[in-house]
Amino acid sequence: MPQNDNIYNCYAPPAEEFVRGEGVYLYTQSDDKYLDFVAGIAVNGLGHNHPALVGALTEQAGKLWHLSNMFKVQEGVALAEKYCAATFADKVFFTNSGAEAVECAMKTARRCQFVEGHPERYEIITCKGAFHGRTFATINAGGNPKYLEGFGPALPGFINVEFGNLDAIKEAISDKTAAILMEPVQGEGGVRALPVQFLKDVRALCDEHGLLLIYDEVQSGAGRTGKLFAHQWADGGADPDVMAVAKGMGGGFPMGACLATARAAEGMIVGTHGSTYGGGPLAMAVASAAFDELTNPDLMANVNKMANFMTQQFERLKQDHPEVVEDVRGKGLLIGMKLKKKALDVRNLARANKLLVGNAGDNVLRMAPPLIISEDNVRDAVAILDKVFTEAKDMDDFEG
Ligand SMILES: *Cc1c(COP(=O)(O)O)cnc(C)c1O
Repeated sequence: MPQNDNIYNCYAPPAEEFVRGEGVYLYTQSDDKYLDFVAGIAVNGLGHNHPALVGALTEQAGKLWHLSNMFKVQEGVALAEKYCAATFADKVFFTNSGAEAVECAMKTARRCQFVEGHPERYEIITCKGAFHGRTFATINAGGNPKYLEGFGPALPGFINVEFGNLDAIKEAISDKTAAILMEPVQGEGGVRALPVQFLKDVRALCDEHGLLLIYDEVQSGAGRTGKLFAHQWADGGADPDVMAVAKGMGGGFPMGACLATARAAEGMIVGTHGSTYGGGPLAMAVASAAFDELTNPDLMANVNKMANFMTQQFERLKQDHPEVVEDVRGKGLLIGMKLKKKALDVRNLARANKLLVGNAGDNVLRMAPPLIISEDNVRDAVAILDKVFTEAKDMDDFEG
């Protein structure tokens, strides 16, 4: 798509430009209102312009913005304590993004094998369809050929196996394996959730072979599935050793984190890792306020209630539009509809009808609304999708 501004042509933005947000709505300059069911791709989990986040940001902005990481950031210490109390983790490294959190997770796993006397164990088993970010290491971890093309030789150390196939993982394990990295719910790959039992089986496999289990919960975390983290649906039966998080945990402020057990993080000593901005006071203040909101049981109850309602409504849409909708999938408020028409075109049609949704791999329409949505919001979205699917009936069928 030709563009004539000075921004890299890596994106293809539509004509609509948004200048402000309020709760589940985005507004254009001319005050056109759009129902936001993509939320910055699972980032604005608390909606736009949330008073607690705005309050935390503006208060911190008047105090202190940045400190070199040679100094302790008190807000970060407090936030790490909260995350450790709420999860499997004992240690946290704060980053600025999801990809950096995954980078830190992979370094942590390799380093753990190294300090435990196994420097030869450096391979990381990853899944097809995975998305782990856009840095060199994370595109190689994800293994998507589209994201690797033209960027030189593939990095060694990654084995990409079929998603959700335990035998494929078993076969890939060797005396060089350091860790298994996976998303409990693949977002980008097509909104595909792994069964809780599968997570438990992989956990057992890791224990049997001395491997570290790394979750990428950048998209599935921060309350998205109705628990703070998606793997927590296994009630402690499938905890990882290391986990990357970001997106929703900052509520829209750029930040991420790598969480680890004490054992996994033991090798990450002075000089092994760092980040200029990671864990800075502004990010920590906002993410602390976000944490308090995300761990409110009322919010998680709303996520579970709305997820059930939405799934039910989407199943009805599937029944009413069999020539458009093939499948409803996902977990919590990360819901996808695999379509028979081109998902990108249907997404654009929804946008023309003032409903913002995303798309994902496997020709899936992706919904990741703010966790604060109401039943009325869902009804509005369903009414728009009903109209959009009726119009989409006449489109050509999607082919590969
Ligand atoms: C978005 C995403 C990332 C990358 O996060 P960035 O903040 O864009 O670097 C990594 N993993 C998953 C699962 C994601 O959804």
